[in-house]
Amino acid sequence: MEKVFTIGEALIDFIPAERGTELKAVSGFSKAAGGAPANVACAVARLGGESAFIGKLGKDAFGDFLLDTMNEAGVDTSRVFRTDEANTALAFVSLRADGEREFSFYRNPSADMLLQQEEIDERWFGAGDILHFCSVDLIEAPVKYAHKKAIEAVKRAGGIVSFDPNVRLPLWKRPELCRDAILAFLPFSHIVKISDEELAFITGMDDEDRALASLFSGDVRHVIYTRGAQGAEWITRGFRTAVPGYAVQVADTTGAGDSFIGALLYRLLEERLPANEERGIGADQARALLTFANAAAALTTSRSGAIPALPVHDEVLRMMEEHRA
Ligand code: ATP
Repeated sequence: MEKVFTIGEALIDFIPAERGTELKAVSGFSKAAGGAPANVACAVARLGGESAFIGKLGKDAFGDFLLDTMNEAGVDTSRVFRTDEANTALAFVSLRADGEREFSFYRNPSADMLLQQEEIDERWFGAGDILHFCSVDLIEAPVKYAHKKAIEAVKRAGGIVSFDPNVRLPLWKRPELCRDAILAFLPFSHIVKISDEELAFITGMDDEDRALASLFSGDVRHVIYTRGAQGAEWITRGFRTAVPGYAVQVADTTGAGDSFIGALLYRLLEERLPANEERGIGADQARALLTFANAAAALTTSRSGAIPALPVHDEVLRMMEEHRA
């Protein structure tokens, strides 16, 4: 059975009790399961697709909580490793009065960074599988080489590689290190999801068209360009098409991007679309997938949290139906 595999970090986001406060003044935090690759695996499973998470957790209560959360969502966690050499990663977050998020990460190193390339088994992957990864675990640590091995293995098996850079600058000593890591892995991906907020930083170009065109290096066949409430675009060497977002009452945008790409990969998997081929997907198919992903992500923004806010399949169809009327 084909699967969406995601690789990288699962971590605890500590959400502040109040908004508009600097991190040092937050009075308390509540824990939420997070980490973009874990969120995406949950997004696919909640929609009814087959997904598996590849990563490492600490042998601690937070690791137990993340494992329970992924299992409850229906994710295959048989490739989750545990270690007592480091704890599960933690991220404390505040939302300052100026709307900016402030982060403090506890990963010196964290368990996710200790995933070894030897722990990746080539036999896991087959033709038709999709491997999705992000940039947080492209930091200089064993997990970066585990990513390389998994990417090579899934491609050798005839599968599809998807990359959402998901820039998190506070995790890097210098912004250039983050950009260099993203640019080093980008050419090995068939699908690149990038947001309007990340494009100029990653490419170093202010002109949007030039910046998007520059992403087509190496194996890149599809660029999925998300534009928040405005929706998303699908760009290939042959076409560029846009689908507007759904107007919803926004409660919390956390996890919108993960819900979006999870929904898109779910549809690619269900329809067995050959996204690793030059003309594997047409503009009409691209628009249908964008519509579905926009609806799933809009539903996620209308609720609080990331994983608890992920929709099931019928909710997405209902959303699309209601807005068609
Ligand atoms: P995240 O904030 O989770 O990191 P991102 O930066 O990766 O997300 P965005 O472009 O902000 O990506 O959002 C991804 C998708 O989520 C959009 O293409 C859209 O479908 C949906 N979305 C985001 N914000 C809104 C909103 N305010 N209203 C409706 N849909 C939204």
